Amino acid sequence: MSDDLELETLALHTGIHRSQFNEHSEALYLTSSFVFDSAAQAAARFSGAEPGNIYSRFTNPTVKAFEERLAALEGAQACVATSSGMSAILACVMGLLSAGDHVVASRSLFGATVSLFNNILSRFAIETTFVSATDPAAWEAALRPNTRLLFLETPSNPLTEVADIAALAAVAKKAGAWLAVDNCFCSPALQRPLELGADLVIHSATKYLEGQGRVLGGAVLGNRELVMERGVFGFLRTAGPSLSPFNAWIIMKGMETLKIRMDAHCANALEIARWLEAQPGVARVHYPGLPSHPQHALAMRQQRAGGGIVSFELEGGREAAWRVVDSVRMISITANLGDAKSTLTHPATTTHGRISQESRDAAGITEGLLRIAVGLEAARDLKADLARGLRRS
Ligand SMILES: *Cc1c(COP(=O)(O)O)cnc(C)c1O
Repeated sequence: MSDDLELETLALHTGIHRSQFNEHSEALYLTSSFVFDSAAQAAARFSGAEPGNIYSRFTNPTVKAFEERLAALEGAQACVATSSGMSAILACVMGLLSAGDHVVASRSLFGATVSLFNNILSRFAIETTFVSATDPAAWEAALRPNTRLLFLETPSNPLTEVADIAALAAVAKKAGAWLAVDNCFCSPALQRPLELGADLVIHSATKYLEGQGRVLGGAVLGNRELVMERGVFGFLRTAGPSLSPFNAWIIMKGMETLKIRMDAHCANALEIARWLEAQPGVARVHYPGLPSHPQHALAMRQQRAGGGIVSFELEGGREAAWRVVDSVRMISITANLGDAKSTLTHPATTTHGRISQESRDAAGITEGLLRIAVGLEAARDLKADLARGLRRS
């Protein structure tokens, strides 16, 4: 595909390799293995002398099509698809780091990501120092001679803190470390971290890329050397958290509408955020698209819009927060995000319930905090659903 196509065009036309049937919609290759013409061809495929599919834990044409499409949207040379967002993070770390390496990570990460670094990778002698997402000087101060990876999400989950990707890419470069950005909240429709100097992009494709809450998936993107040759693909092929071709097909079809969905999520979220700011009992609204957001200027420089996630703090603590949750009739009480249907979460007792109180306090996840992943319903209907529980707080 030509380099100067716009993102919404690439989302429709990349990764298409028609079969002998000349189908218009992308084919779905549900097969675990591939057949060879001869013993010699099998040997050549296994030795790597001849390119081609062998087994779907390694490569699959539908998965490849998804990888090509996402690589085009992120402006990446290479993409490796994984079974989930968490296995993308695992593949990135296991593929690139070794025992004795050090990671500097944002304190404001997805709960399971914090657990992965703190409780699992620590057992393999990969140590992580957590710092404030919004303070590049703190990242610099946390560097050690063995620091190999800087890891962040922006905007963060659930507080929508915005990290300065270009500034942290400069810190990483000076230290000889890689910068990995979990681009789940923005998707490439709003933010392209590689253009800002990041070395790696991580995706939970489960969220906006898929867009309708049906299947899990993930991806690691970056230059060919890092992703394909140095170890990410090797880890995936050997350890096996591969993306199912069925899931790849669902996500790829979801990506066709990524741009218009993200525009609609952002417009709806901005309207809900503005409305929440004016509601009694709401102490604070976190949304990068609001001028009251501490990194509003940076967010508007780095992202095309504020995103679909709004979080807000209620004056009445857990009781008030749970009252809003228990009063909704339409909005789903679920931890997923990026779905066309709006979802509401109490992070302190769900997504961030398994990390220590200390890490929760440090990350600012208070008992009165709610996160809404604003969907594609009419904003007026969403406000009415939220107002029911707010009115009584
Ligand atoms: C959901 C999520 C993940 C994990 O993705 P899964 O597909 O659920 O494994 C990682 N990072 C962020 C920011 C997420 O929201």
